[in-house]
Amino acid sequence: MSDLFGQERDFDEGEAVAVLTTEPLDRYLDYRAPFGGVDLGALVEVPLGPRRVLGAVWGPGQGGFDRAKLRSIIRVLDEPAIPAPMRDFLARAADYTITPLSQMLRLATRAPGLMHPPGDTKVLVAGTAAPDRMTPAREKVLALVEDYGGLPFQPGELANMAGVSGSVIKGLVAQGCLVEVFAPRDGPFPALDPGLPGAALNAEQAVAAEQLRAGVASGTYGTTLLKGVTGSGKTEVYLEAVAEALRLGQQALVLLPEIALSVEFMARVEKRFGARPAEWHSGVTMAERRRAWKAVARGQAQLVVGARSALFLPFRHLGVIVVDEEHDGSYKQEDGVHYHARDMAVLRASILGAQVVLASATPSLETWANAQAGKYARLDLAERFGVAEMPELSAIDMRTEPMQPNQWISPMLADAVAQRMADGEQALLFLNRRGFAPLTLCRACGHQIGCEYCDARMVEHRFLARLVCHQCGESKPVPAACPSCAVEGKLAPIGPGVERLAEEVAARFPDARIAVLSSDMAGSTRAMKARILEIAQGGADIIIGTQMVAKGHNFPLLTLVGVIDADLGLEGGDLRAAEKSFQLIRQVAGRAGRADKPGQALIQSHQPDHPLIKAIIAGDEEAFWAAEAASRARAGAPPYGRMAGIVLSGPDEGAVYALAREMAQAWAGRAKIDSQLFGPAAAPVARIRGRHRVRMLIKTPKGAPIQEALRRWTDGLRLPANIRLTIDIDPQSFY
Ligand code: ADP
Ligand code: ZN
Repeated sequence: MSDLFGQERDFDEGEAVAVLTTEPLDRYLDYRAPFGGVDLGALVEVPLGPRRVLGAVWGPGQGGFDRAKLRSIIRVLDEPAIPAPMRDFLARAADYTITPLSQMLRLATRAPGLMHPPGDTKVLVAGTAAPDRMTPAREKVLALVEDYGGLPFQPGELANMAGVSGSVIKGLVAQGCLVEVFAPRDGPFPALDPGLPGAALNAEQAVAAEQLRAGVASGTYGTTLLKGVTGSGKTEVYLEAVAEALRLGQQALVLLPEIALSVEFMARVEKRFGARPAEWHSGVTMAERRRAWKAVARGQAQLVVGARSALFLPFRHLGVIVVDEEHDGSYKQEDGVHYHARDMAVLRASILGAQVVLASATPSLETWANAQAGKYARLDLAERFGVAEMPELSAIDMRTEPMQPNQWISPMLADAVAQRMADGEQALLFLNRRGFAPLTLCRACGHQIGCEYCDARMVEHRFLARLVCHQCGESKPVPAACPSCAVEGKLAPIGPGVERLAEEVAARFPDARIAVLSSDMAGSTRAMKARILEIAQGGADIIIGTQMVAKGHNFPLLTLVGVIDADLGLEGGDLRAAEKSFQLIRQVAGRAGRADKPGQALIQSHQPDHPLIKAIIAGDEEAFWAAEAASRARAGAPPYGRMAGIVLSGPDEGAVYALAREMAQAWAGRAKIDSQLFGPAAAPVARIRGRHRVRMLIKTPKGAPIQEALRRWTDGLRLPANIRLTIDIDPQSFY
């Protein structure tokens, strides 16, 4: 039937339709289609008790109600209906992750103010005047405005984000440092031009780019692993796939980890396509988020650069999804909906007939195995652009180096650092431990200071003059006396963190300019970006960094990387410990010698004969993956078997265990599949924020229908109000 304007609608006025709301209900609700009818997938506002809530039309009414008593849809939002492939994607993602579909819809409609009608709105932008006097509060606001590169803010939002009162904002407006403008809400994004010239690709890059372009042009589904060392030009190559999608009038999505630090990346994309693409991540203002969401839904935003949740944006005609640094742990969301953005990207593309590009220097074992098995195509960029080789890697055997107490830099490494300084080059010392010391021990009674709320040690941060729990963030001043035996002056820091390493470096190299790069040091994102740029331009001689430095920053003067403790990742019960350690050390080593200077990486280890260390040094990645794959296959571990992690948590340890045991006993009878259940046992982090955590692990052969079994198991389960159950399919970390 058609509406007033002659447009066909899926449901006529008065017809019963099933609406999926974003409320935590486990069923659809029936409503009457409003005046003018409504389409399948349309976003609607419906009455629920006394409230109005957001929902989407998901199908014909389920019936079973008195037709006359059905309430009507209040309003159809002026947004495009969610297209069928997107609905299909949400439903299948919900099934896969065992998440209520309502929660998936919520993920897909996370645009602030979506329910509010469009209209003009008053926003604040930077003015030209300088304030009469600078106060810390004013400084914060102006820094923030600058941080966001001139984007408009809603007044309340700006005060909230800067953590200042509304009067500070008013004061800045009165002085002309901020100006109020009436902006049309949700303006379009500037057009991107795929016709601008990209880099002149070398032969190897050109072959890879051509294959990716052909994939996009085919209009069919395909996933390609684009593997190449840092600096080999993966970004240049996948931007060609993006360009092809844009040329065909399709949309593109580039997912990045740690997006807040990607100024460099945005500038690069802007240069390639002549304008800034849409951005989607936690650092984007609310107004910008809504604008991006709407432009994506209308097909107007051609390219989105975003964090993992950008995958749930309502693209109209998505042609390619790039997952850069596909091995990165931040792609796995581990609260709320437990999903892996890489796997969901593949699912979404397979439904749409779109292409996925997984770019990495050190792919995850899952991706490597999928490429081995021929499920994914694989393209290799073997050369670094402009430079001939990976840095020269070698191990320093810490068993034979003469070490002083409380020193972590071996004489051999110290000599190499001194040599670089003499040559006017930079050295990076890598230690993946934040803070001053990982452990504070009482030398009188042996007590280790732990967190009151978690099963974790507190880490001394001398910079903050506090002990901090890295689990829950709780902090307290370093006590003068031992909290256990009350003896004073006997508390001692044990082991190094980056801050302590910095002390050692300062003592050994008194003339060096030292920079510590750790996620908790630099304060604001802006300060961090500025600091990194300054260091890259030669503002430091020795850089000390945590894993933060492994990610995507260019340090052209850097020619030496020293890995302080390569043994840190060798042990530990984590399935992926070896893989993660391999990736991290290779990435960090790959930071050396980017420009035309050869690089060197020295790796300190007490186990230089460990197969992992040997594979890193030999640069024999295929050997490492083959060995790791074989050992996982033997153990029936992912990707050669399936796993689900179950965590029950609650304030009462006994009650949590009792329920877990009861569930474990019921598993075999209810699940009815070939499987093993391990546990219940205390989770590796047995207590977080006062909640006791008990874990079970379920393992099945590769093709087993684990989700169905889990649903049969938990169906009808009544959880006490204070106990929480989380199910994590394909768990990445074990905590
Ligand atoms: P990756 O993504 O593999 O780390 P990039 O694409 O960032 O590599 O390339 C590394 C550096 O080399 C960048 O500065 C990039 O602009 C430059 N580069 C790569 N390929 C080319 C090329 N064909 N022509 C010019 N510059 C290139
Ligand atoms: Zn804690």
